[in-house]
Amino acid sequence: MGFSSALQSRAAHEALIVRQDAELRLMETMKRSIQMKAKCDKEYAISLTAVAQQGLKIDRADEMQGSLITKSWRSYLDELDQQAKQFKFNAEQLEVVCDKLSHLSQDKRKARKAYQEEHAKIAARLNHLSDEVVRKKTEYQKHLEGYKALRTRFEEHYIKAPSRSGRKLDDVRDKYQKACRKLHLTHNEYVLSITEAIEVEKDFRTVLLPGLLEHQQSVQESFILLWRNILQEAAQYGDLTADKYKEIQKRIDTVIGGINPTEEYGEFTEKHKTSPTSPMLFQFDETLIEDIPGKLQSSTLTVDNLTVDWLRNRLQELESAVKDCQEKQLKMIEHVNGGSPVANGSIISNGSNTSNGIQSNKDSQCRQSKDLNALRCQEKQKQKLVDMIKCALNEVGCEELPSGCDDHLTLEQTFIENGYNNEQQQRSNSTSSPGLGIMNELMRRGGVLTLLRGRGRHFKRKSTPQPTTPTTRCRQGRFNKLQPRSQSLGSLSISLSTNRPLYEEEWFHGVLPREEVVRLLNNDGDFLVRETIRNEESQIVLSVCWNGHKHFIVQTTGEGNFRFEGPPFASIQELIMHQYHSELPVTVKSGAILRRPVCRERWELSNDDVVLLERIGRGNFGDVYKAKLKSTKLDVAVKTCRMTLPDEQKRKFLQEGRILKQYDHPNIVKLIGICVQKQPIMIVMELVLGGSLLTYLRKNSNGLSNRQQMGMCRDAAAGMRYLESKNCIHRDLAARNCLVDLEHSVKISDFGMSREEEEYIVSDGMKQIPVKWTAPEALNFGKYTSLCDVWSYGILMWEIFSKGDTPYSGMSNSRARERIDTGYRMPTPENTPAEMYRLMLKCWAADAESRPHFDEIYNVVDALILRLDNSH
Ligand code: ADP
Repeated sequence: MGFSSALQSRAAHEALIVRQDAELRLMETMKRSIQMKAKCDKEYAISLTAVAQQGLKIDRADEMQGSLITKSWRSYLDELDQQAKQFKFNAEQLEVVCDKLSHLSQDKRKARKAYQEEHAKIAARLNHLSDEVVRKKTEYQKHLEGYKALRTRFEEHYIKAPSRSGRKLDDVRDKYQKACRKLHLTHNEYVLSITEAIEVEKDFRTVLLPGLLEHQQSVQESFILLWRNILQEAAQYGDLTADKYKEIQKRIDTVIGGINPTEEYGEFTEKHKTSPTSPMLFQFDETLIEDIPGKLQSSTLTVDNLTVDWLRNRLQELESAVKDCQEKQLKMIEHVNGGSPVANGSIISNGSNTSNGIQSNKDSQCRQSKDLNALRCQEKQKQKLVDMIKCALNEVGCEELPSGCDDHLTLEQTFIENGYNNEQQQRSNSTSSPGLGIMNELMRRGGVLTLLRGRGRHFKRKSTPQPTTPTTRCRQGRFNKLQPRSQSLGSLSISLSTNRPLYEEEWFHGVLPREEVVRLLNNDGDFLVRETIRNEESQIVLSVCWNGHKHFIVQTTGEGNFRFEGPPFASIQELIMHQYHSELPVTVKSGAILRRPVCRERWELSNDDVVLLERIGRGNFGDVYKAKLKSTKLDVAVKTCRMTLPDEQKRKFLQEGRILKQYDHPNIVKLIGICVQKQPIMIVMELVLGGSLLTYLRKNSNGLSNRQQMGMCRDAAAGMRYLESKNCIHRDLAARNCLVDLEHSVKISDFGMSREEEEYIVSDGMKQIPVKWTAPEALNFGKYTSLCDVWSYGILMWEIFSKGDTPYSGMSNSRARERIDTGYRMPTPENTPAEMYRLMLKCWAADAESRPHFDEIYNVVDALILRLDNSH
């Protein structure tokens, strides 16, 4: 519908005029705005140029020579300058655009005027004719009345006049005829004017007005086209994505990308390179003590009644500083990893995936690793002082305070009595220990010993005679005393062959975790020997049950012998034998006597009994192998723990073994043993030939029947029912953590996160939580019960029926969490029996108490399978 037909009315005509006025005002507004934009862009260009100039005020001195970052910065500023120029150019073009808009506005104004005039012109003719018709009609009426009057007069005269003639009658007739003629003329004019008006009106309506309107429409549309073009131009000059800007940005990206951290300092290093600085020497200035021979010795701590308290206080301070450092390190590791592993001092964290995230992650890893190293250095430095003071105090026989070593060990040591026999004294002397030298010197001078004796708190005398040669005595003891004892211990036999490696001894338990050790030692006198790794150094620890549990670190002498408080021995075996046979307390203070060696349990296998064959998987802590047990020729699966992992992680690794050890169920993977004699520590399990259930589902997605899938669900439910009955919460139930054997039978595995508690509240970070498998109450409040495992079981069912799909695919963990919280549940996987999906939904009840327990789940699935089997 165009103007010509739609806008003929007077009102439309007026609206059209109003519209044009509004358009003209809009044009004015636009013009002003574009002018302002141009001004604004110009000012921005000026500021940008100033920025570029300011940025160039950089150090031009030699220091930054060859620096890629400086070079890139300069180029970047050049590009900023280019950008400023481009902005200026565009601003100028905008001004041109403004001019165009002004012209358009003028033309539009003219066109409006022309339209109005033309419209008025054609309307005026019609109006004129309309008036004319009215006027003619009035005239007509007037003449008609005159005519009628004259005609009446004429008729009267005519009737009255006897001869139908006479001057008077002629006169009247004449007037009557004239009036008649006038009327007829007026009549004709009226007729003509009506006819003309009809024609004009028709032309106005059908030709002139539509023509005018049509023309007007085309004029207005052509204005709009021009207007649009002008706006397009304006937009174009403000387009920051224009090629020109893009090119500039591309060049900026290139120059910044050219910064290469590894090359940045190349030229600088080359220019300033020097040979590594030689270490600064700190040396005791011997001239200081020239005048006081004997009392003070260079680089040696002086221990006497004057200094002993001070030294002990200092030792305490330093030990607590060491402990402090260790705790800080632990906290730092826990904080960063939320329990994940730390390797080679570098902290592995679960960072975000954005490139910035990775960078900042890397930075923070670097910083944390640096902080950790600083703490380690501090610990090492303080430890060195601790060792020095301890050594000095040892040498003179002071009673040492309990050590804070081995974060969990309560190492109790009372120190060697002063010269408990002469031979011993002699031997110690001959080791030319500087500390003892001072002591002897002090003793020779008399006074000190008296003073020391007086301070029984520090020094004690021992009256029991000591072996002349400890080794011989021990050997004798072996035959005299060990035999009867070992008999009373059934299979126990303690050998004393020094050739045999320690880890072959039955009572040596390798790196068995402390919790296990404590569990094994039940009666006073029960003991075992184990290894602990502290500061990457291995220490051998004697653990004894004696009024609680005591742990003694085997001390190594300068000659490579081993001892506690008593005499040194060439091997740890001999030392233990000595303690065992002599029935002397390991330390005077503890009073702990060795009565019954506790041998390795059935499940503590020897590392040498396991032959690794091929890698079959990769776990969190290390690789998983197919292996053979030498003793039984049994094929087994072996999980290894990377040697580099810290103790805490190794303990976590063994946690799985500790839990599995107690279980025996066809749907729970069986533990065969753990190997902790040597590194790498390992967990030996039954080999489940089908491997991980998840991989199995994905590989066999075509060949799996509903019956098989339901069977898998039943197996998993059976295993979980068993665990629930044992108060074990798995916490990581998922297809990836189940194994499948060749009969499609499913076994629950991966007990790394399991807890043996009815309810387990997580208080530390939840970084490694498998969010999509975890129940909302565990995610939100850290509260775990078997009903959380039921939720995960629902997801496991979903995985089984979707043949290994990823749950909530396409959703991030946090999105899935959000949606679950608002009631969303995954739809049923294709071809899932309706009852099974109903069961899934029950497992996913928001209220944990409304979920079924595994017993019920098992019964439901079992009944469904039975029904299915019977129907075939
Ligand atoms: P982790 O608990 O350290 O993460 P997993 O238990 O997940 O280790 O084991 C990693 C992979 O090793 C599994 O996905 C599986 O393929 C394989 N695996 C683990 N245990 C066994 C086993 N007993 N029998 C066969 N394969 C196994």
